[in-house]
Amino acid sequence: MIKNRLTIQELKDGVLASNKAILGRAISLVESQSEKDRTNALSLVNEVLPFSGNSFRMGITGAPGVGKSTFIDGFGDFLLSQGKKVAILAIDPSSKISGGSILGDKTRMEKLVGRKNVFIRPSPAGHELGGVAQSTLESILLCEAAGYDFIIVETVGVGQSETAAKEMTDMLLFLTIAGAGDDLQGIKRGIMEMIDLVVVNKSDQIDSQVLSKLIGNFNQALHLFPPREFRPAVEILNCSAINSIGFDQIWSFVIKYESKVKENGSFLNNRNSQALNWMRRSLLNMIQKHLQKNEMLKSNIEKFENLVTSKRLSPLDAAKQIFDLLNLG
Ligand code: GDP
Repeated sequence: MIKNRLTIQELKDGVLASNKAILGRAISLVESQSEKDRTNALSLVNEVLPFSGNSFRMGITGAPGVGKSTFIDGFGDFLLSQGKKVAILAIDPSSKISGGSILGDKTRMEKLVGRKNVFIRPSPAGHELGGVAQSTLESILLCEAAGYDFIIVETVGVGQSETAAKEMTDMLLFLTIAGAGDDLQGIKRGIMEMIDLVVVNKSDQIDSQVLSKLIGNFNQALHLFPPREFRPAVEILNCSAINSIGFDQIWSFVIKYESKVKENGSFLNNRNSQALNWMRRSLLNMIQKHLQKNEMLKSNIEKFENLVTSKRLSPLDAAKQIFDLLNLG
């Protein structure tokens, strides 16, 4: 039994001792949006920060139904056999809209649930994407401080959630299945630049000729993109997650990827620029929220909105004049 309220020190000690129940409590704290909890959460994260960072973070994205849960269950089991300590987190803003989540119930991960070196945490519910992403970022740091050295961040292939996953991980895996023809299901142009590895799942259901054609088409499409200097070329692999087939090749890719980015320094550069981006984004967010509460500004904005819609002032000039009202120098 853990007592009701833990101090920051108790949370920190529990996290560092890899106590799963306390790690869960620490994550609940970073998920809370109450102002007091936020202050405590920020202190806690600062406290564990020196112990964080020692992990490989893999984002997994893909449309609902391609087999993400099944894949994470099977591949997570594979990672355990490689001696990894695996944490599974999620970014799923749909849980705000639907009450349930597109990513579904993590208790379905039968191979992983209850295993000693696994920590599974579903996406926080009830937040906007920005809030979900921020608490996932803080949860990653907590899990790392608790000794989890392979972090999986699962996300649905909708909206901006995969961009958020990309911005907090070291490698992004796109899980897909063969479409009706010889194309890949759900691959969108914008996402191609973000992906590091494509895995075609449910290979047990695909004819081998279709699979080869699919891989050929995909490799052709890849030639349209400039070569990647600091990261290994994107590859397309296949697996049958349900039968745990194909994980070896995926693992080989991960090892190759990790050693290349660590050797050439881009691993650290990427983590540093991610951290700075989060700082900037969070600052802009706070400024925006603060300004939204400012009564003087609110009434002025309405006035300017009328001027813009009645074409008496250009939108850009209106923005400039509102900005000048802030007297920021
Ligand atoms: P998610 O929505 O992306 O998390 O997908 P799920 O993991 O829930 O899988 C969706 C369905 O596909 C389930 O019925 C799985 O059993 C099935 N599935 C997942 N992987 C495979 C696979 O490798 N082969 C086959 N035949 N079915 C699979």
